[in-house]
Amino acid sequence: MTKKEQLEQLNKKMLACSKCVLRKTCRIVVPGEGNANTKIMFIGEGPGKKEDELGRPFVGSAGKFLDEMLGAIKTKRENIYIANVVKCRPPENRDPLPEEAIACWLWLEQQVKIINPKLIVLLGRHSMERFLPGQKISQIHGKALRKDVSGFGPLVFYVLYHPAAALYNGSMRGTLIEDFKKIPKVLKAIK
Ligand code: URA
Repeated sequence: MTKKEQLEQLNKKMLACSKCVLRKTCRIVVPGEGNANTKIMFIGEGPGKKEDELGRPFVGSAGKFLDEMLGAIKTKRENIYIANVVKCRPPENRDPLPEEAIACWLWLEQQVKIINPKLIVLLGRHSMERFLPGQKISQIHGKALRKDVSGFGPLVFYVLYHPAAALYNGSMRGTLIEDFKKIPKVLKAIK
């Protein structure tokens, strides 16, 4: 089976998932989307209102900002893969609870294993916490980190501030844009 086919099969399973309470309040499951053969996978926190309406990740204002930054590094979302830590919208966009992120981990784990990206870009603190627990985003953003994650082997991570958090915060926005622009260089440097 191709990676694309494997992801399609996985998406069907995700759409039928009801492992945590989020499925009771969300409209639709948002599995993720993009190029199954990408070298770069982006992982956000969870669907918001717009994503919950459309069943697609990062299609609201944070998504527009993400698209702009992808454009600045001469790529587009069709070339990368975008997923989230939780696939169902938390009510009122609250932070996902640890038990919800844990319940949803098996999906994210399989997405990462199928795609097997060279670089995983973690968007925001919740996404960082899943793979790099105990770290401080203010200290590790914009730095490539190689880490052996149990069940995966070595993975390379690049942590960024979340586009939604940075959207209206001048200094964080500037930092995010600068970090983002380094992605091509970071990717090139990975053996
Ligand atoms: N924020 C996220 O973390 N993910 C989305 O899909 C949209 C907004």
